Amino acid sequence: MLRILSHPDCARHQTPTEHPESPARLAAAMRSLERMNNVHFRQASPVDEATLRLVHTPHHIDYIKGLDSGGKAEAIDPDTWFGPGTLQAALLAAGAAVDAVDHVMDDRCQRAFAVVRPPGHHAESYRAMGFCIFNNIVLAAARALAAHGLERIAICDFDVHHGNGTEEIVSGNEEILFASSHQSPLFPDSGDPETTLGGNIHNATLPPGATSDAFRDVWLSQLLPRVAAFKPQLVLVSAGFDGHNADPLAQLRLKDDDYFWIGQELRKIADTHARGRLVASLEGGYDLNALERSVQAFADALV
Ligand SMILES: [Zn+2]
Repeated sequence: MLRILSHPDCARHQTPTEHPESPARLAAAMRSLERMNNVHFRQASPVDEATLRLVHTPHHIDYIKGLDSGGKAEAIDPDTWFGPGTLQAALLAAGAAVDAVDHVMDDRCQRAFAVVRPPGHHAESYRAMGFCIFNNIVLAAARALAAHGLERIAICDFDVHHGNGTEEIVSGNEEILFASSHQSPLFPDSGDPETTLGGNIHNATLPPGATSDAFRDVWLSQLLPRVAAFKPQLVLVSAGFDGHNADPLAQLRLKDDDYFWIGQELRKIADTHARGRLVASLEGGYDLNALERSVQAFADALV
């Protein structure tokens, strides 16, 4: 059984026409899940202020909340847009990931998937960036540490972009291990393994054009062993599907089946070390057809 946390208001975050991070992404992801058996849907609640403050600076939170009073769409940076529905969508996206942790930790389910937008892994403690307003997956980790007393949490990120925001926030926090595969060179030009090996960050890069074999190899040879050795009590997943061959924003050549594979591998680690507890949160994935199929493949591994 897989629990899905989402909210229709995540579609109210509007971006300009032609912007790849569109409300249609949410519909594509939900379409695939609605076809599946053993998937239970729950409506997410907005993240609370106290949890937000565990991760983001008061300046960032106040800045974002202040934008909401303007009532018109504007660019926070060239990629990241804020409109009338954005604050509520961002609070619900973060809240879905946080709620998912509560559901899993209270044994209401073993595995949960926050199917939301805006995504989160580029948002740093002090700024929005790369389509992201708040860092949903780090907020989930913060909730698990603060409210559920965990001491070791792994964040596994297979989005094609490096989760610079996640790294910025959790770097040096020995209670969290961050393991990421990402294409390099590519936005946001961070995540160089040479400068981040050691500590609690493990980055692995893939060149443009890399295929399924290279993706599976970096996870099998580096990232999965590192995560398993950490013995996480909860496995969190930044689930981005923009490494797909069809994706317009990057040049990896992954297939639908690679997302089933990574879902299975992460589930195995959760089963071995974390009593099965796994929470994923949707990050990227910008070809609507590939996103629909990839989400289904990933969810198939978690059901
Ligand atoms: Zn991405």
